[in-house]
Parts: sequence; structure tokens; C-alpha cells
Amino acid sequence: MSRKLKGEGMSKKRRILVVLIVVILLAGSALSGNNVSQLTYAAKEAVQSEGSSATWAANQDIKSQTRQIRYSGDEMLRKKSEIVGVIDDEIRQILNDMAEIMYTKHGEGLAAPQIGILKRLVVIDIGEGLIKLVNPKIIKQEGGQKVRERCLSIPNTLGLVKRPARVVVQALNENGEEIILTGQGDLAKSFCHEIDHLDGILFTDLDIVYIR
Ligand SMILES: [Zn+2]
Repeated sequence: MSRKLKGEGMSKKRRILVVLIVVILLAGSALSGNNVSQLTYAAKEAVQSEGSSATWAANQDIKSQTRQIRYSGDEMLRKKSEIVGVIDDEIRQILNDMAEIMYTKHGEGLAAPQIGILKRLVVIDIGEGLIKLVNPKIIKQEGGQKVRERCLSIPNTLGLVKRPARVVVQALNENGEEIILTGQGDLAKSFCHEIDHLDGILFTDLDIVYIR
């Protein structure tokens, strides 16, 4: 008896489930162009606010919209980026996109949060060739230097800041191999500037003398 009642309960639940699925399918097929763009916007917002693996698929779909430079005032620039666990084709694609944007904008470096992706990825080219870094960290620094700095995310701003004269960076390359790089002068400056971005730090946060 009790088993029978249970059985009826189950079939009721199933019916409700079927009705729900039908309603969802009908709603889906009735989506107009406006609704689609609202959904795209919602997906974009999700990517902007989290950048987690859960939103990765959405990120891919709206790649062209998210991979644009974020400017000062954008909260993405203030967030801490996540360590990259697996270096796959998607990560390599992001690094390639970042390099393309950096060259297009005539920059010398770019960090992933600058294009709205909260992952510890950096590209640098100070005229000595392209460097792609995954999960970079400064493991040693020496001396000091006063350097002129600018940032693609803070247009029309140039300032004098103090950076180490020499840094040693440990990172992974795009094939997941560990690399150790030493940078002096401009390269030391770029390593510091870009790695700061991964922790939500901008060069204007430093002790700075504005040139313009
Ligand atoms: Zn910057």
C-alpha cells in the first residue's frame, strides 16, 4: 500500500518535471533577438564578475566582446587573478590574443585582467622578443631604479616610479615548462608592472611623480 502511494507520488513528480521541461523548451524557442542579446549581456556580466571555470564556456562564446582593454576604474583591474592549473589550447589562445592586442596598442606588456580575464597570464615585448608567462612570480629582486612608466589601461598618463634594478622571475611557459628569467632595466620594470596587475595593483598606486 505504502509502496503504491510512493509510486503515485513519483509519477506526479515526473509529470511536473515533464511540464517544466516543456515550459523551458517553449520559452527557449520563443526567444527573440532582444532576449538573446540580454542573455549574452548576462553571460558577459558573469565572466566580468568571476572569470571562474564555470563561466569559461560563456567566456569563449563572447570572446570578441571580452577581449578588449579594460581601463582604470574598471573593477576587473582591482581583482586578484587565479593561478592557471592546466595549460591547454584555450590558455595558449588567450596568450596569443593578448600578444595581438599588446602589439595593436603599441604596448610593451599586457596582463590578462587588462582584458577582463582573471588568470595569471602575462605577455611582454620590450623590443627584445615576445615573452609569454603563466603564473609568473618574482623570486628575487635587487637594487633600485627610477623608471618612466605608462599602462595601456591608464591612457595619457606617464609617471616616474621606483622599481628594483634586477628581478628574477619564475614562471611556466606556454608548454607548461618551468622557466627562470632574469630582467634588468626596462625588462625588470615590465616584469614588476605586469605581475602587479595580477594582484590588482596599478603603477599609479606606487609612490609616483606624474610627468603627465
Ligand atoms: Zn599596465
